[in-house]
Amino acid sequence: LSTELAQMKERLPEWLEASRALTAEGKTAAYIPELAKAPKEALGIHILNMNGESVSAGDCGLVFTMQSISKVFTLLLALMDNGEEVVFAKVGKEPTGDDFNSMLKLELVEPGIPFNPLINAGAIVISSLIHGATPEQKSERILRFFCELSGNETLGYNLDVCRSESATAHRNRSLAYFLKDNGVLDDDVEEVLDVYFHHCSVEVTCADLARMGLVLACGGKDPVTQKQLVPRRYVQIAKTFMMTCGMYNASGEFAIAAGLPAKSGVAGGIMTMVPGRLGIGVVGPALNSKGNSVAGVHLIETLSREFDWSMF
Ligand code: GLU
Repeated sequence: LSTELAQMKERLPEWLEASRALTAEGKTAAYIPELAKAPKEALGIHILNMNGESVSAGDCGLVFTMQSISKVFTLLLALMDNGEEVVFAKVGKEPTGDDFNSMLKLELVEPGIPFNPLINAGAIVISSLIHGATPEQKSERILRFFCELSGNETLGYNLDVCRSESATAHRNRSLAYFLKDNGVLDDDVEEVLDVYFHHCSVEVTCADLARMGLVLACGGKDPVTQKQLVPRRYVQIAKTFMMTCGMYNASGEFAIAAGLPAKSGVAGGIMTMVPGRLGIGVVGPALNSKGNSVAGVHLIETLSREFDWSMF
């Protein structure tokens, strides 16, 4: 084991338990009823380096849905399918400082285009840009892409979560119809939402997220197979969005505390990385008021401080 991972292995259980104590202050996401059932006290982490060495701690075996973390990868696929010009004619490049499902700032970047691809409105537009003749084909291409990046051929959907979200997605539906009315969405709204709900409900473990994060940390190259899976330029774009908007409206706070590109999801997952070195997957379903895993954020901030990981 590398010196850094060996040191981590020794201290990780203690840091994890200290962070786990914070889960008492958090709440699981309730607006998607199926997510409310997640174990509130759970906290797990998996850290992977470029030599394929890893350390993990806590509830790292927990299976959870990617939710918003999937938006980073649909953005990459949309860029690979369409190029930068087409994608950024439909979504902006600016953080919002609002909630992830905000309707407030939809119209401010250019008339009618969402601020960025990581807020829900932007991610729904991105789902519509994925190539495929039918929603099923689009979803299938997205799932294949996630499998390739995670090195895990067995990834699949949690259909209970997918249906639960679809049944209660009144706000996302209204965002999507608004975008349709503005001419930002070309396709049938329900078909676009079907693709969106499916990629949000892809199930992973911390190890899958660590591997996906590591590919991003390595500029799109899978360090295990040495295959360039995503063009370096697109990975640069995705990581910049993670830094500026990846943690909802706590992105600035997290950038100051941890200084790493990261993306969280409402099921409690966080994917982050130390550029050029490590991929990190964390899960802790109890969320803080900003919608980020309360214990997960604390654990990453602790590690970043202890190992001086901030990019700044
Ligand atoms: N599927 C969730 C939604 O659209 C994702 C939100 C999130 O993880 O931030 O509400």
